[in-house]
Amino acid sequence: MDLSPPRGMQDFLPPRSEALRARAAAAARQAELFGYRSVEVPALEPTELYERTAGETSDVVRKEMYTFEDRGHRLLTLRPEATAGIVRAYLAHAQQLPSPFNVDTIGAMWRYGRPQAGRYREFRQFDLEVIGAPEPDADVEVIAVGDRFLREAGLDDIELQVNSIGDEVCRPAYREELLSYLDAHQQELTDEHRARFRENPLRVLDCRDEACRAVSRGAPKISDRLCGPCAEHFAAVQDGLAAEGVPFVHEPLLVRGLDYYTRTAFEVVAGSLSEAQAAVCGGGRYDGLAEIIGGPHTPAVGFASGLERILVALGNEGKEVEGAARLDCFVVAIGGEAIEPARKAARILRDVGLSTMSSFGPRSTKAQFRMADRQRAQFAVVIGREEAVAGTVTVRRLSDGHQQEFGIDEAAAWILTLREEGSE
Ligand code: AMP
Repeated sequence: MDLSPPRGMQDFLPPRSEALRARAAAAARQAELFGYRSVEVPALEPTELYERTAGETSDVVRKEMYTFEDRGHRLLTLRPEATAGIVRAYLAHAQQLPSPFNVDTIGAMWRYGRPQAGRYREFRQFDLEVIGAPEPDADVEVIAVGDRFLREAGLDDIELQVNSIGDEVCRPAYREELLSYLDAHQQELTDEHRARFRENPLRVLDCRDEACRAVSRGAPKISDRLCGPCAEHFAAVQDGLAAEGVPFVHEPLLVRGLDYYTRTAFEVVAGSLSEAQAAVCGGGRYDGLAEIIGGPHTPAVGFASGLERILVALGNEGKEVEGAARLDCFVVAIGGEAIEPARKAARILRDVGLSTMSSFGPRSTKAQFRMADRQRAQFAVVIGREEAVAGTVTVRRLSDGHQQEFGIDEAAAWILTLREEGSE
């Protein structure tokens, strides 16, 4: 059988699997620092949820969903994004939940797109949401978490772009204005957008094709057409970002092409990625989403950041992905008498927090030292006949061969001290 993973999906093996896990752990830590709580929602939802929320004109719904019928004839879809599921769960349990509800989740998403570097059919997102907060400070905080997360990852060549896309008060008039502009320029659009721009004109502004971009650059800008409250909100978000020390640029062509998105839209683009998939984080305000799935009006803001894409961007910036965490100890047992004491020694080392391995079953001393080397162990904890009889272990620091014989408890304490010194 063919051993490759499904097209557009990847096997993550060490050290990339560990780099991915490290990013996920860093994401959870940032969210925790701001007091966000973690949520887990199903990876599958009724297809209807995404049809309603993503809108039938969106690429995700038209072309990219993994949809199937289960054995009970229910139409289900593998989640293409996390927000809709989280808001559904929030609405189902709102009575018991605090307001605002500040949450994060990390998990796989699926989109049946055309695979290329940085664009996969299965990918992982760090997703952060504040549900039930209309204040611009919520937007500022969400963006600040994303910015800290990306900078902590080590990305330098990134730019935060923000815009406001108005709301149901100011957007309809803008939409009409944009429609007549596009109508006058339709010959210059790509075939797809010429055929579809009337359904959702804002999507043209989102198109990466150079022809559409040229038209977009001359188009009226939503941020020049904001109503008073939207303009005030946008000014407060920009002031808040400046006060937080988060650098940003105003990008007037940045939009989200769905009606439930309101006001703030933002994206972090990495200069080292190709333009079509340069975003390492994207988000914004979605005050209209809860109502679309049958809940009360619930202002909310959030972002999603792609973990694989961060690794690609780090690689492009010439930064190595973090390698495997190094192993502290490898227990080497020489001869039959050493097997039981070695087992006990490994248990004690792990109990004090030292990562420890040993071979399964008896092996030659040489083979065991080779294994220790391969695992990049820092110390070999050797038990031979003499140590077995004396109830001791010989600890050898593998970097320089320095070694000493101890009782196992002293040995553990010594390794812990040396490890601390080594990490300073
Ligand atoms: P979106 O929900 O499309 O705004 O995506 C949010 C973030 O998820 C993007 O900024 C990317 O970092 C990441 N992302 C989106 N689609 C993909 C994909 N197909 N493969 C890898 N990462 C993706």
